[in-house]
Amino acid sequence: MNKESKQLKQDFYSLSLPDIKAWCEKQGLESYRADQIFTWQKKGLTEFAEMSDISKDIRQRLTQEFDAIPLQVSREISSAQDKTKKYVLALRDGNVIEAVLMRYKYGYSVCISTQVGCRMRCAFCASSALSFVRNLSAGEMLAQVALINRLNNSEVKRVTIMGIGEPFDNYANLVEFLKRLNDPKGLNISLRRVTLSTCGIIDKMLEFVNECLYITLSVSLHAPNQGIREKLMPTAKKYRFPDLINAGEHYARKSGRRITYEYALFSGINDQEKHAQELATALRGRNCHVNIIPANEVPGFPFRPSFETTIQRFMQVLEQNGVNVTRRRELGADIAAACGQLRRSYEGA
Ligand code: SF4
Repeated sequence: MNKESKQLKQDFYSLSLPDIKAWCEKQGLESYRADQIFTWQKKGLTEFAEMSDISKDIRQRLTQEFDAIPLQVSREISSAQDKTKKYVLALRDGNVIEAVLMRYKYGYSVCISTQVGCRMRCAFCASSALSFVRNLSAGEMLAQVALINRLNNSEVKRVTIMGIGEPFDNYANLVEFLKRLNDPKGLNISLRRVTLSTCGIIDKMLEFVNECLYITLSVSLHAPNQGIREKLMPTAKKYRFPDLINAGEHYARKSGRRITYEYALFSGINDQEKHAQELATALRGRNCHVNIIPANEVPGFPFRPSFETTIQRFMQVLEQNGVNVTRRRELGADIAAACGQLRRSYEGA
């Protein structure tokens, strides 16, 4: 349910270059104007008045017909520990989402949301306590990247689709967003620099292979078998463990991109040596690697982080069995880095 039901204008970021060309033609404008106008998307335009190379008359016509940007920053929180920043973003209908900027050796990476709330109800996720409201449009996803890029002097080099929402549950908008993100006349971010995290919607993973948009897939596994996975992730009841591993293998083969399996360790639940052995057996010989996530403590949730010695042993068992394993760097731990946490505290939920 939208918080405000007033009729909204179409927003500028929802327009592709062909859409802008069609608009220019309808307005009787020269065709080169479309490229000029479109360029302002990658600059992170927030008001049409910023279009310094566009006449006042055209800017007025754009203002009458479109909203310049579909979201704005409500709150920005910087980590005292590293250069991570969290942005709470207000959408035009009154809903809020969040995006995170992280600093790595190669430059900045921005993590975006794809939905308001989430339907997947993973037991360990703060977002699962927020009921699903709606999908984000491709323009709303693109505007998160463009605006944060602008606020950080165009230093964003990578995009991760790991914020609030399950991206494959918003499939059509996701595909459009990826094409727009990769547009050479737009933000022109290489698909090789995009990572998408999914809780494992197998039919969409298989459909996505055929789009030939070969980004890195990061599958939230979090369990070494069907039984534990079902307890942590309700979607596992429908999308079964062996089928998920086979779907991951299929994507890796077709795309040539190694699959990442995310595995959050929860004390006493999925972090024992026998679990590492079982996981190694399931993944051995596959084109994948496991990214271990030392779980965050989320207030109000029953899960506890694993002990350091347990984490080390878990990783060692995987390595000894020939499975590539890394440990996720914990960025912004002091500003609630897990998806959904910031928005929840902001809304007072
Ligand atoms: S972990 Fe991801 S898919 Fe699961 S509830 Fe949270 S946002 Fe949704």
